[in-house]
Amino acid sequence: MHALCQRANKFLRYDATQPPRLQGRHCAGNSSAMKAMTDGKTTVAELRQRVLAFVRERDWEQFHSPKNLSMALAAESGELMEHFLWTESKASLEVARDPKKRRAIEDEVADVVIYALEFANICGIDLAAAIETKMAANAKKYPVEKAKGRADKYTEL
Ligand SMILES: [Mg+2]
Repeated sequence: MHALCQRANKFLRYDATQPPRLQGRHCAGNSSAMKAMTDGKTTVAELRQRVLAFVRERDWEQFHSPKNLSMALAAESGELMEHFLWTESKASLEVARDPKKRRAIEDEVADVVIYALEFANICGIDLAAAIETKMAANAKKYPVEKAKGRADKYTEL
């Protein structure tokens, strides 16, 4: 195993300074993994374009109504959740760290994001702007002085 991979496997939390493919299962040390897209060098616009090109090549836009995409997104979220079903919260971190399960978990979270990107494509939503707006709303709902260290819903703070 690549030395960087051994180190990364100890700390599988996301590290923006490292290519994500070296943080989990893709630790073969091959050059193709090194050329892969990474969060640090890929824009949201590039991801959207990648998904759009994939969809258009297959003439799938005809099936991509907001209804179908939102349902597909939920279905993929369910597939992601299935990996952690019946595990305790602490144990779910071990599941996420398990090299044997890592690939499948990465695939499911990718499916979720791909459908979210395609939903934004079809609906003409600027994701960065929408996230900025929602984060500002979240900051108002969950002021640090009230919410820090608490998991309660904003109505319960
Ligand atoms: Mg899936």
